[in-house]
Amino acid sequence: MWKIKRVTLEFILQAARNNYPLEFAGLLRARDNVITEVLIIPGTRWHEHSASLLMNMVPLDPDIVGSVHSHPGPALPSKADLEFFSKFGKIHLIAGYPYTPETLRAFLPSGKQTNIDVVD
Ligand SMILES: [Zn+2]
Repeated sequence: MWKIKRVTLEFILQAARNNYPLEFAGLLRARDNVITEVLIIPGTRWHEHSASLLMNMVPLDPDIVGSVHSHPGPALPSKADLEFFSKFGKIHLIAGYPYTPETLRAFLPSGKQTNIDVVD
Protein backbone atom coordinates (compact mmCIF):
# COMPACT_ATOMS: atom_id res chain seq x y z
CA MET A 1 0.00 0.00 0.00
CA TRP A 2 1.39 3.38 -1.02
CA LYS A 3 1.18 6.49 1.13
CA ILE A 4 1.98 10.14 0.59
CA LYS A 5 2.86 12.87 3.06
CA ARG A 6 0.19 15.54 3.24
CA VAL A 7 2.72 18.33 2.56
CA THR A 8 3.94 16.48 -0.53
CA LEU A 9 0.40 16.06 -1.82
CA GLU A 10 -0.25 19.76 -1.26
CA PHE A 11 2.97 20.65 -3.08
CA ILE A 12 1.87 18.59 -6.09
CA LEU A 13 -1.60 20.16 -6.21
CA GLN A 14 -0.12 23.65 -5.91
CA ALA A 15 2.42 22.97 -8.66
CA ALA A 16 -0.37 21.67 -10.88
CA ARG A 17 -2.44 24.83 -10.27
CA ASN A 18 0.56 27.09 -10.88
CA ASN A 19 1.31 25.44 -14.21
CA TYR A 20 -2.26 25.24 -15.49
CA PRO A 21 -3.13 25.06 -18.37
CA LEU A 22 0.35 23.65 -18.96
CA GLU A 23 1.37 20.43 -17.30
CA PHE A 24 4.10 19.91 -14.81
CA ALA A 25 6.09 16.73 -14.38
CA GLY A 26 8.31 15.39 -11.67
CA LEU A 27 9.71 12.30 -10.07
CA LEU A 28 8.66 10.85 -6.73
CA ARG A 29 11.01 9.94 -3.91
CA ALA A 30 9.84 7.61 -1.17
CA ARG A 31 11.01 5.78 1.91
CA ASP A 32 9.23 2.63 3.01
CA ASN A 33 6.42 3.21 0.49
CA VAL A 34 5.74 6.72 1.82
CA ILE A 35 6.15 9.38 -0.87
CA THR A 36 7.91 12.29 0.74
CA GLU A 37 9.39 14.39 -2.03
CA VAL A 38 8.89 15.55 -5.62
CA LEU A 39 11.87 16.24 -7.85
CA ILE A 40 10.91 18.73 -10.51
CA ILE A 41 13.04 18.32 -13.58
CA PRO A 42 13.38 21.80 -15.09
CA GLY A 43 12.13 22.19 -18.62
CA THR A 44 10.31 18.91 -18.65
CA ARG A 45 6.78 18.82 -19.91
CA TRP A 46 5.44 15.34 -19.86
CA HIS A 47 3.62 15.17 -23.15
CA GLU A 48 6.18 17.14 -25.12
CA HIS A 49 9.05 14.77 -24.36
CA SER A 50 9.55 11.11 -24.89
CA ALA A 51 9.90 8.93 -21.83
CA SER A 52 13.45 8.13 -22.86
CA LEU A 53 14.41 11.79 -22.78
CA LEU A 54 12.90 12.12 -19.33
CA MET A 55 14.83 9.04 -18.25
CA ASN A 56 18.10 10.59 -19.43
CA MET A 57 17.49 13.44 -17.03
CA VAL A 58 16.78 11.23 -14.05
CA PRO A 59 19.48 11.40 -11.43
CA LEU A 60 20.78 8.09 -10.20
CA ASP A 61 18.79 7.83 -7.02
CA PRO A 62 17.51 4.58 -5.50
CA ASP A 63 14.77 6.43 -3.59
CA ILE A 64 13.02 7.45 -6.82
CA VAL A 65 9.94 5.26 -7.07
CA GLY A 66 7.91 6.78 -9.88
CA SER A 67 6.50 9.90 -11.42
CA VAL A 68 3.88 12.58 -11.14
CA HIS A 69 2.38 14.83 -13.76
CA SER A 70 -0.69 16.98 -14.14
CA HIS A 71 -3.43 17.00 -16.71
CA PRO A 72 -5.48 20.08 -17.66
CA GLY A 73 -8.49 17.71 -17.63
CA PRO A 74 -9.39 14.43 -15.92
CA ALA A 75 -6.66 12.20 -14.48
CA LEU A 76 -7.07 9.55 -17.14
CA PRO A 77 -3.76 8.08 -18.32
CA SER A 78 -3.03 8.51 -22.02
CA LYS A 79 -1.61 5.70 -24.12
CA ALA A 80 1.85 7.27 -23.76
CA ASP A 81 1.35 7.56 -19.99
CA LEU A 82 0.52 3.86 -19.73
CA GLU A 83 3.54 2.93 -21.82
CA PHE A 84 5.81 4.98 -19.57
CA PHE A 85 4.23 3.58 -16.38
CA SER A 86 4.95 0.05 -17.59
CA LYS A 87 8.64 0.83 -18.16
CA PHE A 88 9.62 2.88 -15.18
CA GLY A 89 9.05 2.95 -11.45
CA LYS A 90 6.48 1.39 -9.15
CA ILE A 91 3.92 4.14 -8.58
CA HIS A 92 2.71 7.01 -10.75
CA LEU A 93 0.43 9.91 -9.94
CA ILE A 94 -1.71 12.03 -12.22
CA ALA A 95 -3.15 15.25 -10.83
CA GLY A 96 -6.38 16.01 -12.67
CA TYR A 97 -8.11 19.37 -12.93
CA PRO A 98 -9.16 21.12 -10.63
CA TYR A 99 -6.27 19.70 -8.59
CA THR A 100 -7.86 18.60 -5.37
CA PRO A 101 -6.96 15.45 -3.41
CA GLU A 102 -10.08 13.86 -4.96
CA THR A 103 -8.90 14.47 -8.54
CA LEU A 104 -5.44 13.01 -8.00
CA ARG A 105 -5.15 9.37 -8.97
CA ALA A 106 -2.41 6.80 -8.43
CA PHE A 107 -1.51 4.06 -10.88
CA LEU A 108 0.58 0.91 -10.75
CA PRO A 109 2.95 -0.04 -13.61
CA SER A 110 0.16 -2.27 -14.94
CA GLY A 111 -1.99 0.84 -15.41
CA LYS A 112 -4.38 -0.29 -12.69
CA GLN A 113 -5.57 2.49 -10.41
CA THR A 114 -4.59 2.09 -6.78
CA ASN A 115 -5.43 3.77 -3.50
CA ILE A 116 -2.95 6.05 -1.84
CA ASP A 117 -3.23 7.02 1.81
CA VAL A 118 -2.41 10.52 2.99
CA VAL A 119 -0.27 10.62 6.14
CA ASP A 120 0.94 13.51 8.29
ZN1 LIG B 1 -0.65 12.21 -18.90
